[in-house]
Amino acid sequence: MNPDFPIPTLSRSATGLTLEGVELAEIAARFGTPTYVYSLSALRDAFAAYQAALAGRKSLVCYAVKANSNLGVLSAFARWGAGFDIVSGGELARVIAAGGDPGKTVFSGVGKSAAELRQALEADIRCFNVESSAELERLNMIAGELGKRAPIAFRVNPDVDPKTHPYISTGLRNNKFGVAFDDARTLYRHAATLPHISVSGIACHIGSQLLDPAPMAEATDKLLALVDALKSDGITLDHFDFGGGLGIRYRDETPPAVADYLAPLIERLAGRHEEICFEPGRSLVGNAGLLLTRIEYLKHGEEKNFAIVDAAMNDLIRPALYDAYHEVVAVRERETTAEVFEIVGPICESGDFLAHDRSLAVQQGDLLALLSAGAYGMGMSSNYNTRARAAEVIVDGEQVLLVRERETIEALFALERALPPA
Ligand SMILES: *Cc1c(COP(=O)(O)O)cnc(C)c1O
Repeated sequence: MNPDFPIPTLSRSATGLTLEGVELAEIAARFGTPTYVYSLSALRDAFAAYQAALAGRKSLVCYAVKANSNLGVLSAFARWGAGFDIVSGGELARVIAAGGDPGKTVFSGVGKSAAELRQALEADIRCFNVESSAELERLNMIAGELGKRAPIAFRVNPDVDPKTHPYISTGLRNNKFGVAFDDARTLYRHAATLPHISVSGIACHIGSQLLDPAPMAEATDKLLALVDALKSDGITLDHFDFGGGLGIRYRDETPPAVADYLAPLIERLAGRHEEICFEPGRSLVGNAGLLLTRIEYLKHGEEKNFAIVDAAMNDLIRPALYDAYHEVVAVRERETTAEVFEIVGPICESGDFLAHDRSLAVQQGDLLALLSAGAYGMGMSSNYNTRARAAEVIVDGEQVLLVRERETIEALFALERALPPA
Protein backbone atom coordinates (compact mmCIF):
# COMPACT_ATOMS: atom_id res chain seq x y z
CA MET A 1 0.00 0.00 0.00
CA ASN A 2 1.33 3.42 -1.00
CA PRO A 3 1.17 5.66 2.11
CA ASP A 4 1.10 8.87 0.02
CA PHE A 5 -1.45 8.06 -2.66
CA PRO A 6 -4.15 5.46 -3.34
CA ILE A 7 -2.41 4.67 -6.65
CA PRO A 8 0.40 2.25 -5.78
CA THR A 9 2.77 3.30 -8.58
CA LEU A 10 2.35 7.08 -8.12
CA SER A 11 5.03 9.03 -6.32
CA ARG A 12 6.44 12.52 -5.99
CA SER A 13 9.94 13.30 -7.20
CA ALA A 14 11.83 16.60 -6.87
CA THR A 15 10.36 17.72 -10.20
CA GLY A 16 6.78 16.53 -9.76
CA LEU A 17 4.42 13.56 -9.74
CA THR A 18 5.55 10.40 -11.51
CA LEU A 19 3.71 7.22 -12.46
CA GLU A 20 6.00 4.20 -12.69
CA GLY A 21 8.80 6.79 -12.71
CA VAL A 22 7.44 8.71 -15.72
CA GLU A 23 6.81 12.43 -15.14
CA LEU A 24 3.13 13.31 -15.52
CA ALA A 25 4.23 16.74 -16.82
CA GLU A 26 6.02 14.96 -19.67
CA ILE A 27 2.88 12.98 -20.49
CA ALA A 28 0.85 16.20 -20.57
CA ALA A 29 3.40 17.86 -22.84
CA ARG A 30 3.41 14.92 -25.21
CA PHE A 31 -0.29 13.99 -25.31
CA GLY A 32 -2.06 17.14 -24.13
CA THR A 33 -4.83 17.33 -21.52
CA PRO A 34 -7.23 16.08 -20.36
CA THR A 35 -5.69 12.60 -20.59
CA TYR A 36 -6.44 9.41 -18.70
CA VAL A 37 -3.19 7.78 -17.58
CA TYR A 38 -3.06 4.12 -16.49
CA SER A 39 -0.22 2.18 -14.90
CA LEU A 40 0.32 -1.26 -16.41
CA SER A 41 2.13 -2.58 -13.36
CA ALA A 42 -0.71 -1.43 -11.09
CA LEU A 43 -3.16 -3.31 -13.33
CA ARG A 44 -0.93 -6.38 -13.27
CA ASP A 45 -0.52 -6.33 -9.50
CA ALA A 46 -4.26 -5.94 -8.93
CA PHE A 47 -4.97 -8.93 -11.17
CA ALA A 48 -2.17 -10.98 -9.61
CA ALA A 49 -3.72 -10.44 -6.16
CA TYR A 50 -6.86 -12.28 -7.29
CA GLN A 51 -4.82 -15.06 -8.86
CA ALA A 52 -2.76 -15.47 -5.70
CA ALA A 53 -5.86 -15.53 -3.47
CA LEU A 54 -7.36 -18.26 -5.67
CA ALA A 55 -4.21 -20.33 -6.11
CA GLY A 56 -4.91 -24.06 -5.87
CA ARG A 57 -8.59 -23.65 -6.74
CA LYS A 58 -10.22 -24.12 -10.09
CA SER A 59 -11.10 -20.51 -10.76
CA LEU A 60 -11.66 -17.83 -13.36
CA VAL A 61 -11.32 -14.09 -12.88
CA CYS A 62 -13.60 -12.36 -15.38
CA TYR A 63 -12.69 -8.69 -15.59
CA ALA A 64 -15.87 -6.56 -15.67
CA VAL A 65 -15.35 -4.75 -18.95
CA LYS A 66 -17.69 -1.86 -18.17
CA ALA A 67 -15.29 -0.52 -15.52
CA ASN A 68 -12.81 0.41 -18.24
CA SER A 69 -13.29 -0.98 -21.72
CA ASN A 70 -10.24 0.46 -23.46
CA LEU A 71 -8.71 -2.12 -25.80
CA GLY A 72 -5.27 -1.53 -24.30
CA VAL A 73 -6.59 -2.43 -20.85
CA LEU A 74 -8.55 -5.43 -22.16
CA SER A 75 -5.56 -6.76 -24.10
CA ALA A 76 -3.42 -6.60 -20.95
CA PHE A 77 -5.94 -8.68 -19.00
CA ALA A 78 -6.29 -11.10 -21.94
CA ARG A 79 -2.51 -11.56 -22.00
CA TRP A 80 -2.55 -12.43 -18.29
CA GLY A 81 -5.20 -15.10 -18.83
CA ALA A 82 -8.25 -13.24 -17.53
CA GLY A 83 -11.79 -13.96 -18.58
CA PHE A 84 -14.30 -11.16 -19.09
CA ASP A 85 -17.71 -10.14 -17.77
CA ILE A 86 -19.65 -8.28 -20.44
CA VAL A 87 -23.00 -6.49 -20.40
CA SER A 88 -23.51 -5.84 -24.12
CA GLY A 89 -22.74 -7.10 -27.59
CA GLY A 90 -20.51 -4.07 -27.99
CA GLU A 91 -18.40 -5.22 -25.06
CA LEU A 92 -18.16 -8.70 -26.57
CA ALA A 93 -16.86 -7.16 -29.80
CA ARG A 94 -14.27 -5.24 -27.78
CA VAL A 95 -13.14 -8.36 -25.93
CA ILE A 96 -12.64 -10.20 -29.20
CA ALA A 97 -10.88 -7.20 -30.82
CA ALA A 98 -8.52 -7.07 -27.83
CA GLY A 99 -7.60 -10.76 -28.16
CA GLY A 100 -9.77 -11.93 -25.26
CA ASP A 101 -11.18 -15.45 -25.18
CA PRO A 102 -14.98 -15.67 -25.65
CA GLY A 103 -14.73 -19.12 -24.04
CA LYS A 104 -13.81 -17.33 -20.81
CA THR A 105 -16.49 -14.66 -21.15
CA VAL A 106 -19.71 -14.40 -19.15
CA PHE A 107 -22.61 -12.22 -20.25
CA SER A 108 -24.54 -10.29 -17.55
CA GLY A 109 -27.32 -7.74 -17.87
CA VAL A 110 -31.11 -7.48 -17.61
CA GLY A 111 -31.87 -6.48 -21.19
CA LYS A 112 -29.93 -8.66 -23.61
CA SER A 113 -31.41 -8.20 -27.09
CA ALA A 114 -32.05 -11.05 -29.52
CA ALA A 115 -29.18 -9.82 -31.67
CA GLU A 116 -26.84 -9.78 -28.67
CA LEU A 117 -27.84 -13.31 -27.62
CA ARG A 118 -27.25 -14.54 -31.18
CA GLN A 119 -23.86 -12.80 -31.35
CA ALA A 120 -22.76 -14.35 -28.06
CA LEU A 121 -24.03 -17.82 -29.03
CA GLU A 122 -22.09 -17.62 -32.29
CA ALA A 123 -18.98 -16.62 -30.35
CA ASP A 124 -19.43 -19.62 -27.99
CA ILE A 125 -19.13 -17.66 -24.77
CA ARG A 126 -18.59 -19.39 -21.44
CA CYS A 127 -21.94 -18.58 -19.82
CA PHE A 128 -25.07 -16.47 -20.07
CA ASN A 129 -25.92 -15.03 -16.67
CA VAL A 130 -29.70 -15.03 -17.15
CA GLU A 131 -31.71 -12.41 -15.26
CA SER A 132 -35.35 -13.32 -16.04
CA SER A 133 -37.53 -16.19 -17.24
CA ALA A 134 -38.39 -14.20 -20.39
CA GLU A 135 -34.68 -13.99 -21.20
CA LEU A 136 -34.36 -17.75 -20.67
CA GLU A 137 -37.16 -18.46 -23.17
CA ARG A 138 -35.67 -16.10 -25.74
CA LEU A 139 -32.24 -17.65 -25.33
CA ASN A 140 -33.62 -21.19 -25.67
CA MET A 141 -35.39 -20.21 -28.88
CA ILE A 142 -32.40 -18.50 -30.49
CA ALA A 143 -30.03 -21.29 -29.49
CA GLY A 144 -32.47 -23.70 -31.14
CA GLU A 145 -32.39 -21.68 -34.37
CA LEU A 146 -28.61 -21.89 -34.34
CA GLY A 147 -28.56 -25.58 -33.45
CA LYS A 148 -26.74 -24.87 -30.18
CA ARG A 149 -27.17 -25.34 -26.44
CA ALA A 150 -26.66 -22.19 -24.42
CA PRO A 151 -24.73 -22.58 -21.15
CA ILE A 152 -26.55 -20.63 -18.44
CA ALA A 153 -26.38 -19.51 -14.86
CA PHE A 154 -29.20 -17.63 -13.19
CA ARG A 155 -28.13 -14.42 -11.60
CA VAL A 156 -29.80 -14.86 -8.26
CA ASN A 157 -30.66 -11.93 -6.07
CA PRO A 158 -29.64 -13.02 -2.57
CA ASP A 159 -31.29 -9.96 -0.94
CA VAL A 160 -28.35 -8.96 1.23
CA ASP A 161 -27.56 -5.36 2.02
CA PRO A 162 -24.05 -4.50 0.80
CA LYS A 163 -24.11 -1.15 2.70
CA THR A 164 -22.97 0.89 -0.25
CA HIS A 165 -24.38 3.80 -2.27
CA PRO A 166 -28.00 3.03 -3.34
CA TYR A 167 -27.13 3.61 -7.03
CA ILE A 168 -24.51 0.84 -6.90
CA SER A 169 -26.31 -1.59 -4.62
CA THR A 170 -27.66 -4.38 -6.82
CA GLY A 171 -28.48 -7.39 -4.66
CA LEU A 172 -31.50 -6.15 -2.76
CA ARG A 173 -35.01 -7.45 -3.36
CA ASN A 174 -36.29 -4.14 -4.74
CA ASN A 175 -33.87 -3.58 -7.60
CA LYS A 176 -34.04 -4.58 -11.25
CA PHE A 177 -31.18 -7.07 -11.25
CA GLY A 178 -31.25 -10.85 -11.03
CA VAL A 179 -34.05 -13.31 -10.31
CA ALA A 180 -35.65 -13.48 -6.87
CA PHE A 181 -34.00 -15.97 -4.56
CA ASP A 182 -37.34 -17.64 -3.82
CA ASP A 183 -38.06 -18.19 -7.53
CA ALA A 184 -34.64 -19.53 -8.44
CA ARG A 185 -35.22 -23.20 -7.71
CA THR A 186 -38.35 -23.34 -9.88
CA LEU A 187 -36.54 -21.50 -12.67
CA TYR A 188 -33.64 -23.96 -12.58
CA ARG A 189 -35.99 -26.93 -12.71
CA HIS A 190 -37.70 -25.45 -15.73
CA ALA A 191 -34.38 -24.54 -17.43
CA ALA A 192 -33.21 -28.13 -17.02
CA THR A 193 -36.11 -29.26 -19.23
CA LEU A 194 -35.36 -26.88 -22.11
CA PRO A 195 -33.78 -28.53 -25.16
CA HIS A 196 -31.37 -25.74 -26.07
CA ILE A 197 -30.26 -24.75 -22.58
CA SER A 198 -27.46 -26.33 -20.62
CA VAL A 199 -27.58 -25.49 -16.92
CA SER A 200 -24.01 -24.63 -15.99
CA GLY A 201 -23.73 -22.39 -12.95
CA ILE A 202 -25.13 -19.89 -10.51
CA ALA A 203 -24.23 -16.20 -10.30
CA CYS A 204 -24.74 -13.20 -8.07
CA HIS A 205 -23.43 -9.65 -7.85
CA ILE A 206 -24.55 -7.74 -4.80
CA GLY A 207 -23.16 -4.26 -5.36
CA SER A 208 -20.10 -2.17 -5.83
CA GLN A 209 -17.48 -0.39 -3.72
CA LEU A 210 -17.99 -2.98 -0.96
CA LEU A 211 -15.67 -2.47 1.98
CA ASP A 212 -16.82 -5.26 4.25
CA PRO A 213 -16.53 -9.01 3.49
CA ALA A 214 -19.61 -9.89 5.60
CA PRO A 215 -22.31 -9.33 2.93
CA MET A 216 -20.40 -11.53 0.47
CA ALA A 217 -20.15 -14.27 3.07
CA GLU A 218 -23.89 -13.96 3.72
CA ALA A 219 -24.63 -14.15 -0.01
CA THR A 220 -22.37 -17.21 -0.30
CA ASP A 221 -24.29 -19.03 2.42
CA LYS A 222 -27.56 -18.35 0.63
CA LEU A 223 -26.19 -19.42 -2.73
CA LEU A 224 -24.74 -22.65 -1.37
CA ALA A 225 -28.04 -23.55 0.31
CA LEU A 226 -29.69 -23.16 -3.07
CA VAL A 227 -26.95 -25.18 -4.79
CA ASP A 228 -27.61 -28.04 -2.37
CA ALA A 229 -31.35 -27.85 -2.93
CA LEU A 230 -30.73 -28.04 -6.68
CA LYS A 231 -28.51 -31.05 -6.21
CA SER A 232 -31.38 -32.85 -4.48
CA ASP A 233 -33.45 -32.01 -7.58
CA GLY A 234 -30.81 -33.70 -9.73
CA ILE A 235 -29.38 -30.42 -11.04
CA THR A 236 -25.62 -30.14 -10.71
CA LEU A 237 -23.61 -27.06 -11.54
CA ASP A 238 -20.04 -26.72 -12.74
CA HIS A 239 -19.31 -23.19 -11.53
CA PHE A 240 -20.25 -20.56 -8.96
CA ASP A 241 -19.89 -16.91 -9.98
CA PHE A 242 -19.72 -14.44 -7.09
CA GLY A 243 -19.70 -11.28 -9.17
CA GLY A 244 -17.54 -8.24 -8.48
CA GLY A 245 -17.85 -5.39 -6.06
CA LEU A 246 -14.72 -5.17 -3.94
CA GLY A 247 -14.13 -1.51 -3.11
CA ILE A 248 -11.01 0.61 -3.34
CA ARG A 249 -9.46 3.50 -1.44
CA TYR A 250 -10.49 6.85 -2.89
CA ARG A 251 -9.89 8.92 0.24
CA ASP A 252 -9.52 7.23 3.60
CA GLU A 253 -11.47 4.02 3.01
CA THR A 254 -9.70 0.86 4.15
CA PRO A 255 -10.91 -1.90 1.86
CA PRO A 256 -9.84 -5.41 2.77
CA ALA A 257 -7.01 -6.99 0.78
CA VAL A 258 -8.31 -9.32 -1.94
CA ALA A 259 -7.14 -12.39 0.00
CA ASP A 260 -8.98 -11.23 3.14
CA TYR A 261 -12.09 -10.36 1.19
CA LEU A 262 -12.19 -13.80 -0.41
CA ALA A 263 -11.14 -15.79 2.66
CA PRO A 264 -14.61 -16.25 4.25
CA LEU A 265 -15.96 -17.29 0.88
CA ILE A 266 -13.17 -19.76 0.12
CA GLU A 267 -13.59 -21.20 3.60
CA ARG A 268 -17.27 -21.86 2.89
CA LEU A 269 -16.35 -23.62 -0.35
CA ALA A 270 -14.08 -26.16 1.29
CA GLY A 271 -14.77 -29.64 -0.06
CA ARG A 272 -16.55 -28.35 -3.17
CA HIS A 273 -14.85 -28.74 -6.50
CA GLU A 274 -16.83 -26.47 -8.78
CA GLU A 275 -14.97 -23.72 -10.59
CA ILE A 276 -15.29 -20.40 -8.79
CA CYS A 277 -15.58 -17.21 -10.78
CA PHE A 278 -15.36 -13.53 -9.93
CA GLU A 279 -16.22 -10.46 -11.93
CA PRO A 280 -14.10 -7.67 -10.43
CA GLY A 281 -14.07 -4.30 -12.16
CA ARG A 282 -13.22 -1.37 -9.93
CA SER A 283 -10.74 -3.28 -7.76
CA LEU A 284 -8.69 -4.20 -10.86
CA VAL A 285 -8.55 -0.83 -12.59
CA GLY A 286 -9.71 1.95 -10.25
CA ASN A 287 -6.40 2.65 -8.59
CA ALA A 288 -4.37 2.00 -11.70
CA GLY A 289 -5.56 5.24 -13.26
CA LEU A 290 -5.72 9.00 -12.96
CA LEU A 291 -7.10 11.88 -14.98
CA LEU A 292 -4.53 14.50 -15.88
CA THR A 293 -5.96 17.98 -16.40
CA ARG A 294 -4.70 21.56 -16.72
CA ILE A 295 -5.97 24.65 -14.92
CA GLU A 296 -7.39 27.06 -17.48
CA TYR A 297 -8.27 29.83 -15.04
CA LEU A 298 -8.34 30.61 -11.36
CA LYS A 299 -11.38 32.63 -10.38
CA HIS A 300 -11.72 34.23 -7.00
CA GLY A 301 -15.36 34.67 -6.06
CA GLU A 302 -16.93 36.34 -3.07
CA GLU A 303 -17.58 33.11 -1.28
CA LYS A 304 -15.60 30.52 -3.19
CA ASN A 305 -12.50 30.20 -5.28
CA PHE A 306 -12.73 28.19 -8.44
CA ALA A 307 -10.03 26.30 -10.29
CA ILE A 308 -11.51 25.90 -13.76
CA VAL A 309 -9.83 22.96 -15.43
CA ASP A 310 -9.91 21.51 -18.96
CA ALA A 311 -11.53 18.24 -17.81
CA ALA A 312 -15.23 18.26 -16.98
CA MET A 313 -18.20 16.15 -15.95
CA ASN A 314 -18.30 14.71 -19.48
CA ASP A 315 -14.85 13.22 -18.81
CA LEU A 316 -15.45 12.11 -15.22
CA ILE A 317 -19.08 12.05 -14.13
CA ARG A 318 -18.69 10.18 -10.83
CA PRO A 319 -18.57 13.31 -8.64
CA ALA A 320 -21.75 14.68 -10.24
CA LEU A 321 -23.50 11.30 -10.37
CA TYR A 322 -22.63 9.73 -7.01
CA ASP A 323 -21.06 12.64 -5.17
CA ALA A 324 -17.91 10.55 -5.47
CA TYR A 325 -14.61 11.73 -4.06
CA HIS A 326 -11.40 11.76 -6.07
CA GLU A 327 -8.17 13.03 -4.59
CA VAL A 328 -6.83 16.06 -6.44
CA VAL A 329 -3.09 16.64 -6.40
CA ALA A 330 -0.95 19.29 -8.03
CA VAL A 331 1.58 17.71 -10.38
CA ARG A 332 4.15 20.29 -9.24
CA GLU A 333 3.81 21.73 -5.77
CA ARG A 334 4.40 25.45 -5.48
CA GLU A 335 5.96 27.27 -2.56
CA THR A 336 3.05 29.72 -2.38
CA THR A 337 0.42 29.34 0.33
CA ALA A 338 -2.46 27.04 -0.45
CA GLU A 339 -6.00 28.26 -1.04
CA VAL A 340 -9.25 26.33 -0.99
CA PHE A 341 -10.80 25.71 -4.41
CA GLU A 342 -13.82 24.21 -6.06
CA ILE A 343 -12.44 22.17 -8.96
CA VAL A 344 -14.85 22.69 -11.85
CA GLY A 345 -14.98 22.14 -15.59
CA PRO A 346 -16.08 24.40 -18.47
CA ILE A 347 -19.51 22.77 -18.95
CA CYS A 348 -22.64 24.88 -18.60
CA GLU A 349 -24.13 23.00 -15.63
CA SER A 350 -23.80 23.71 -11.94
CA GLY A 351 -23.33 19.95 -11.55
CA ASP A 352 -20.09 20.24 -13.48
CA PHE A 353 -17.72 19.87 -10.58
CA LEU A 354 -14.90 17.40 -10.07
CA ALA A 355 -14.13 18.15 -6.42
CA HIS A 356 -15.18 20.48 -3.60
CA ASP A 357 -13.08 22.40 -1.08
CA ARG A 358 -9.59 21.30 -1.97
CA SER A 359 -6.59 23.05 -0.57
CA LEU A 360 -4.03 23.61 -3.34
CA ALA A 361 -1.04 25.86 -3.98
CA VAL A 362 -1.49 26.38 -7.72
CA GLN A 363 -1.45 28.92 -10.53
CA GLN A 364 -3.12 29.21 -13.89
CA GLY A 365 -1.64 26.68 -16.32
CA ASP A 366 -0.67 24.16 -13.61
CA LEU A 367 -1.44 20.48 -14.00
CA LEU A 368 -3.67 18.55 -11.61
CA ALA A 369 -4.11 14.80 -11.27
CA LEU A 370 -7.49 13.36 -10.24
CA LEU A 371 -6.61 10.07 -8.64
CA SER A 372 -8.38 6.70 -8.59
CA ALA A 373 -10.02 7.45 -11.93
CA GLY A 374 -9.24 4.16 -13.69
CA ALA A 375 -12.72 2.70 -13.13
CA TYR A 376 -15.99 4.21 -14.38
CA GLY A 377 -14.09 7.25 -15.65
CA MET A 378 -13.52 7.16 -19.39
CA GLY A 379 -16.12 4.40 -19.72
CA MET A 380 -18.88 6.75 -18.53
CA SER A 381 -17.64 9.77 -20.49
CA SER A 382 -19.80 11.59 -23.02
CA ASN A 383 -19.56 14.33 -25.61
CA TYR A 384 -21.86 16.74 -23.78
CA ASN A 385 -21.24 20.33 -24.83
CA THR A 386 -19.61 18.89 -28.00
CA ARG A 387 -16.45 18.18 -26.10
CA ALA A 388 -14.04 15.72 -27.67
CA ARG A 389 -13.23 12.96 -25.24
CA ALA A 390 -9.84 12.66 -23.55
CA ALA A 391 -6.88 10.69 -24.80
CA GLU A 392 -5.87 7.54 -22.88
CA VAL A 393 -2.33 6.29 -22.32
CA ILE A 394 -0.82 3.30 -20.55
CA VAL A 395 2.51 3.72 -18.79
CA ASP A 396 4.63 0.58 -18.94
CA GLY A 397 7.94 1.25 -17.24
CA GLU A 398 9.67 3.88 -19.35
CA GLN A 399 7.22 3.52 -22.22
CA VAL A 400 4.05 5.54 -22.58
CA LEU A 401 1.64 3.95 -25.04
CA LEU A 402 -1.22 5.90 -26.58
CA VAL A 403 -4.21 3.53 -26.32
CA ARG A 404 -6.90 6.00 -27.38
CA GLU A 405 -6.35 9.09 -29.44
CA ARG A 406 -8.00 12.29 -28.39
CA GLU A 407 -11.25 12.60 -30.33
CA THR A 408 -11.49 15.13 -33.12
CA ILE A 409 -14.38 17.61 -33.23
CA GLU A 410 -15.28 16.51 -36.80
CA ALA A 411 -15.71 12.92 -35.60
CA LEU A 412 -18.27 14.09 -33.03
CA PHE A 413 -20.84 15.05 -35.67
CA ALA A 414 -19.65 12.89 -38.57
CA LEU A 415 -22.78 10.70 -38.28
CA GLU A 416 -25.17 13.66 -38.27
CA ARG A 417 -26.88 15.39 -41.18
CA ALA A 418 -28.08 18.94 -41.54
CA LEU A 419 -31.52 19.23 -43.16
CA PRO A 420 -31.42 19.64 -46.94
CA PRO A 421 -31.65 23.25 -48.19
CA ALA A 422 -35.19 24.55 -47.85
C1 LIG B 1 -20.59 -3.78 -12.60
C2 LIG B 1 -20.58 -5.25 -12.45
C3 LIG B 1 -19.43 -5.90 -11.98
C4 LIG B 1 -18.20 -5.15 -11.55
O1 LIG B 1 -18.42 -4.43 -10.37
P1 LIG B 1 -17.22 -3.74 -9.59
O2 LIG B 1 -17.86 -3.11 -8.43
O3 LIG B 1 -16.62 -2.74 -10.54
O4 LIG B 1 -16.24 -4.80 -9.22
C5 LIG B 1 -19.45 -7.28 -11.93
N1 LIG B 1 -20.55 -7.99 -12.30
C6 LIG B 1 -21.67 -7.39 -12.74
C7 LIG B 1 -22.83 -8.21 -13.12
C8 LIG B 1 -21.73 -6.00 -12.83
O5 LIG B 1 -22.86 -5.41 -13.26
